[in-house]
Amino acid sequence: MLIPHDTRIALDTVVDLVNTAPQDEPAADTPADGPADGLADVAALYAFAQRHHISGVGTLGEKDLTAVREVRTRFAEVFAAPEARTAADLVNRLVAAAGTTPQLTDHDGYDWHVHYFAPDASIGDHLAADCGMALAFIIVAGEQDRLRRCEAPDCGRAFVDLSRNRSRRYCSSRTCGNRLHVAAYRARRREAAG
Ligand SMILES: [Zn+2]
Ligand SMILES: [Zn+2]
Repeated sequence: MLIPHDTRIALDTVVDLVNTAPQDEPAADTPADGPADGLADVAALYAFAQRHHISGVGTLGEKDLTAVREVRTRFAEVFAAPEARTAADLVNRLVAAAGTTPQLTDHDGYDWHVHYFAPDASIGDHLAADCGMALAFIIVAGEQDRLRRCEAPDCGRAFVDLSRNRSRRYCSSRTCGNRLHVAAYRARRREAAG
């Protein structure tokens, strides 16, 4: 699957956005007050915008934080969608609400690409438009099942499986994949010993 550079960047952004949400089922070893929200305050939202080079969104406030968290919930639903039609409906609603204005641009030395967010869009609308269209691209390509959640029992982080044979099961082979391999290995050893 050929994914344009800017779509790839928007996919990274939406995965990171979804993963800032506290997980529904916290791991047994997380503190009693539950896992932290990665977008706990406006400062965290600024850091997120900076991390993903989201420019032109002006001064951010509580309203933006609420809006972005709302968009985050919608994107989490797209990742949880059982099939393409459900995902498509969700993306359609998100993108329509964001008021997109597709615009070709080659700003800052990047190759020609399309910005979907309207000029002066708030950060919530910006994310809904550009990340929504990146997910639309995946759905159009017939690849909705690449939008996944990590299968490690206490993880559940979102990721986009861009592997050639769509075989990826974990958010990261270095952390979750490896952790499960070690656990399976120990279980086999216990079995062999008992
Ligand atoms: Zn751009
Ligand atoms: Zn994981």
